Amino acid sequence: MTRLAYVNGRYVNHSAGMVHIEDRGYQFADGVYEVVMVYQNRLVDEKGHLDRLESSLAHIKLPMPMSRRSIQLVMRHLIAQNRLDHGLLYIQVTRGVAPRDHKFPTNVKPALVMTTKKTRISSVNQEKGVKVVSVPDIRWKRCDIKSISLLPNILAKQQAAENSAFEAWFLDEQGMVTEGTSSNSWIISNNKVITRKASSAILNGITRQTLLEIISKHKLHLEERSFSLQEAMKASEAFLTSSSAFVIPVCQIDNIKISDGTPGIFTKNLLNYYRSAILDLPQIS
Ligand code: PMP
Repeated sequence: MTRLAYVNGRYVNHSAGMVHIEDRGYQFADGVYEVVMVYQNRLVDEKGHLDRLESSLAHIKLPMPMSRRSIQLVMRHLIAQNRLDHGLLYIQVTRGVAPRDHKFPTNVKPALVMTTKKTRISSVNQEKGVKVVSVPDIRWKRCDIKSISLLPNILAKQQAAENSAFEAWFLDEQGMVTEGTSSNSWIISNNKVITRKASSAILNGITRQTLLEIISKHKLHLEERSFSLQEAMKASEAFLTSSSAFVIPVCQIDNIKISDGTPGIFTKNLLNYYRSAILDLPQIS
């Protein structure tokens, strides 16, 4: 079966999908992206992702490359063509192709690429939990924009991998956890769910937002505030969230085990609530 990609108005063979060498995404990382999970033939939090795409684009002063309705049609077509019942759909928009010059080009159309990847959420990570390492947050001051410029995230994730960890948690200059390289960070202390407030210091994860709704629906105690690495190491539970991972227990930070080093009941319950909320979503017709 041929795997298709959508590249600037055309469906092409994934392996033949190309962008121009002067695409500003390639030259300057001048673009933004979204990643949407397809889970059991459901698009997870589609509206949240498209809202955030619009917001990221507005922050970098780019219009939507086409109407939301058209983007949704392409998403569905690609998912159907690629028979993606489980996996990830990537949407990437850059400022288009123009001779290299930092300032915005005039009369240039944004470039739009959509791709899919077959993948399943790791049940081992969900059941056994993962290790994270702490690293200094060397990113820019607008982490709320889902920019394609991911060099600090890549370097930190590589450091995690080299230390047999699943993720790296960024620490700000005060030693407070901002977030992971591709996930949001949470702890449980004194039966309270604690996560950093949405601000320009973190990406306001769509999974984070859905989980906050679930927490409120189940009347769990929530504190939206910063927490330090030390507080996280002493927490009764810790976990991370992202579209591609849902909820994953964090059982070790650096060399310190969280509680007894196994996933806690609070995190397990949150994952179960999250999963059932996702299964309530309509299937892609
Ligand atoms: N923070 C960062 C830096 C990320 O890259 C991601 C993944 N997109 C997240 C948080 C989690 O966001 P979401 O739940 O929307 O996937």
